[in-house]
Amino acid sequence: MPCFRFVEKVKHESVYCYPQYSGNFTYQVRARGEEQLVVNINDRTFGCNKWQLIGILCVHGMIALLSTNHNPMNFIHLRYKKEAFIQTYSPVIYGINGPKMWKKSNEAPMEVQISGNGGKNQRRREICNQKRSE
Ligand SMILES: [Zn+2]
Repeated sequence: MPCFRFVEKVKHESVYCYPQYSGNFTYQVRARGEEQLVVNINDRTFGCNKWQLIGILCVHGMIALLSTNHNPMNFIHLRYKKEAFIQTYSPVIYGINGPKMWKKSNEAPMEVQISGNGGKNQRRREICNQKRSE
């Protein structure tokens, strides 16, 4: 499960962070070589904004969660979980036969509207048709 591996990787990297509880579910987390950041577990807000932006735990949140015995898997956004993947890809898209197997129609072919540079191509076609008729 990729989500589980990612959590384990962040958990391993969070060893170099130092959480300090400051009260009311808030931690001051100091990572090696970085500035001190505030993590609020109750509000799910991190000073680095990674969690708020993409819903993935960073090392700051991970070390705060581990120091409170929270399960980090409960703090990953639903869209990264297996249930969301299954829900997204559960509808079946059935295959179709190739064009040789399609029914022939007696109706005239549809005109295709060319978007974008269609006006220029239409002018070229008109000029070509004028030259042919001359
Ligand atoms: Zn962070």
